[in-house]
Amino acid sequence: MSEKSKIEWTDHTFNPWEGCQKVGPGCDHCYAETRNARFAGGQAVNWGPGAPRRRTSATNWRKPLAWNANHDAFFAEHGRRQRVFCASLADVFDNTVDPAWRADLFDLIMATPNLDWLLLTKRIGNVPGMLVGPGMPGRLPSNVWLGATICNQEEADRDIPKLLAVPARVRFLSMEPLLGPVDLGRHLWKCCGAMIPGNQGDGWMQPPDPPECCQCPEPREQLHWVIVGGESGASARPMHPDWARSLRDQCAAAGVPFLHKQWGEWHTAATVASTGEPVFRQLDSFQQWVNKAQTWIHGGICLDRHGRELKNGGDFMQARDNDDFPVTIMHKVGKKAAGRVLDGVQHDGFPRSAT
Ligand code: SF4
Repeated sequence: MSEKSKIEWTDHTFNPWEGCQKVGPGCDHCYAETRNARFAGGQAVNWGPGAPRRRTSATNWRKPLAWNANHDAFFAEHGRRQRVFCASLADVFDNTVDPAWRADLFDLIMATPNLDWLLLTKRIGNVPGMLVGPGMPGRLPSNVWLGATICNQEEADRDIPKLLAVPARVRFLSMEPLLGPVDLGRHLWKCCGAMIPGNQGDGWMQPPDPPECCQCPEPREQLHWVIVGGESGASARPMHPDWARSLRDQCAAAGVPFLHKQWGEWHTAATVASTGEPVFRQLDSFQQWVNKAQTWIHGGICLDRHGRELKNGGDFMQARDNDDFPVTIMHKVGKKAAGRVLDGVQHDGFPRSAT
């Protein structure tokens, strides 16, 4: 409900109501549930199926109108429109929410055309059905960016096609907490991937990387933006550096803006001696683990090349036998110390239409 958000990719957060229900592994350590419990004396009162959601105050609901009125001054200073993240303590497309509240929210969205509303959901399959009905506009207003939260490959395969099926000015992924490697495949591409005549006139070939494509009459719907982040909080799970690097590289190859939001709690405690730059130490072999474990690990954790944690000698022997080296060492240094720089670069990509 804050007026100025600390979240890197938005200017404001707005919560029309509070309360939700866990729907996947990305919800395991839900910050909003913990917060709800803290304010209710230890037990989250607005969580779970059927638990009452709490609508926020009329004063809170008036804030977007004030932000909307401040458009000229904001645009003069920043050269772009204001972004509003809705909702950080709930899910707009939660089944338990009173549909009349959602209709009120969409009235507010349409009454504030100077704001770009970022609706991020873990229930992307609910969107088409919930856009119709009493008081609903039938389709997303043009000042809405629609996002799906994706934390692993299974969710990517299941939910990205659903996101791409909803007409929206901007479609984005928030991959936080990132819990595994994800291949976004051709979801990043406008090209449909149909075979095209080969260069030598001797058969057919896959189209080359964008921006060239097969030139079919109906280009695919495409993702416009990818946000990646590791988990924060007391029980945070580590994000293997290769998972973030892979998504950075996939986005670069497809020309899709990439924003690395945060490492989360886990990063590295090692630095390059000559420059002081942080560096992820890697154990390339079982023998190197034998030689370096004592001096390098120091309270850290060891992740094999798939991101699985190795805890004891037996795990390392198995990793050797299964060809699961190199092993990356990570330390729980805290979110602030871990920061958001990836291999020396701060990635702050935004969708082109944002500017
Ligand atoms: S969808 Fe979001 S708010 Fe709801 S339980 Fe999951 S993480 Fe928490």
